[in-house]
Amino acid sequence: MVLACIDPRFQELVTNYTTGRGLTGRYSQFTVAGAAIGVVAPRFENWHATFWDNLDASVELHRITTVIAINHRDCGAAEIAYGAAAVADATCETRTHREALAEFRRQLAVRHPQLGVETGLMALDGTLEGIS
Ligand SMILES: [Zn+2]
Repeated sequence: MVLACIDPRFQELVTNYTTGRGLTGRYSQFTVAGAAIGVVAPRFENWHATFWDNLDASVELHRITTVIAINHRDCGAAEIAYGAAAVADATCETRTHREALAEFRRQLAVRHPQLGVETGLMALDGTLEGIS
């Protein structure tokens, strides 16, 4: 499963990334504001169960083996979730996403320890920085 953000600038970039990995037609996608931030941030608590229920369904229906969570820079949802100071510069922004992605991996490991996970932060030019 690919978990990505609703930001219009990143729809094609995420598709380009998955195409580049030969994943076309081979993944389910869940798109929510903030990507992993939408799944773990307290500000978006009402969305969390929806993601996990959808993931359960995808595991059952599609036998997925891996979750690829793609957060991105200049994400409005990150600012909504954690405040302007959390994304004030690239260093703060990287730390904020690193922490949210780590929390996402922790929760995924509890719920679906059999699944692989990849987490990354995509730049505005579409390059993906792996974060683990
Ligand atoms: Zn976003």
